[in-house]
Amino acid sequence: MKPDLEIQMPTASRGTCRFCSIVEGTADIAALHDSPWLKGEQYAAFVSVGALVKGWSLVAPRQHTLNLLSQYGSKAFFRFLDQAHRIVTKDFGPTVVFEHGSQHHLSQTSCGTAHAHMHLVPLSFSLESASEQFDETLRWQTCRATEISSVVAGNEYLFVADRYDSDATVGQLAILREGRSQFFRQVIATRLGCPDLFDYKTHPQYDLTKESARRLLNFSNAELASVA
Ligand SMILES: [Zn+2]
Ligand SMILES: [Zn+2]
Repeated sequence: MKPDLEIQMPTASRGTCRFCSIVEGTADIAALHDSPWLKGEQYAAFVSVGALVKGWSLVAPRQHTLNLLSQYGSKAFFRFLDQAHRIVTKDFGPTVVFEHGSQHHLSQTSCGTAHAHMHLVPLSFSLESASEQFDETLRWQTCRATEISSVVAGNEYLFVADRYDSDATVGQLAILREGRSQFFRQVIATRLGCPDLFDYKTHPQYDLTKESARRLLNFSNAELASVA
């Protein structure tokens, strides 16, 4: 992908940022995926196109920002992420989290979606180990989520944690010397034995994302009803 190409996804609204329209609910609701299954004052959780496994969800701040660095210091962010992660885990099993953090809008690292988001992915293998083995040129270091901002010091980065533990989450962090497009998707697709499916633009996986979105919406409605 050329960094200066604006990708046009089928469900994108006319706005300039696809995720802004999703978190504000102005995307195509009928599509089910790309509309939030959990929405808070500041954050939303939704299934987006291209999920390679059931339950794969994203959590994004409703305010447009490039990466999650400022969120990692926010109690409200972790409270929302706790809730979203609990729902995905209950329904789909152990769930890793990762972020590909970009620092400018045309970065390859953001891969066409320059709006901060955390991926929540139910996986039966260690994404930390798989990522380390996938590309030996990347240098990984153990890092607490709340310390990513000071460690990356303005660089782009990849962060992955097999075990989510709210603001005590510890994972593996790689600082990028150059933009990196769809890294974790490549790792996951390869590990799942379907390396050709990694590109969400050519493989949006609509059936899988719709089913996930429907299940998570039902599940989060049930959970919200039970605490009301
Ligand atoms: Zn946005
Ligand atoms: Zn992403």
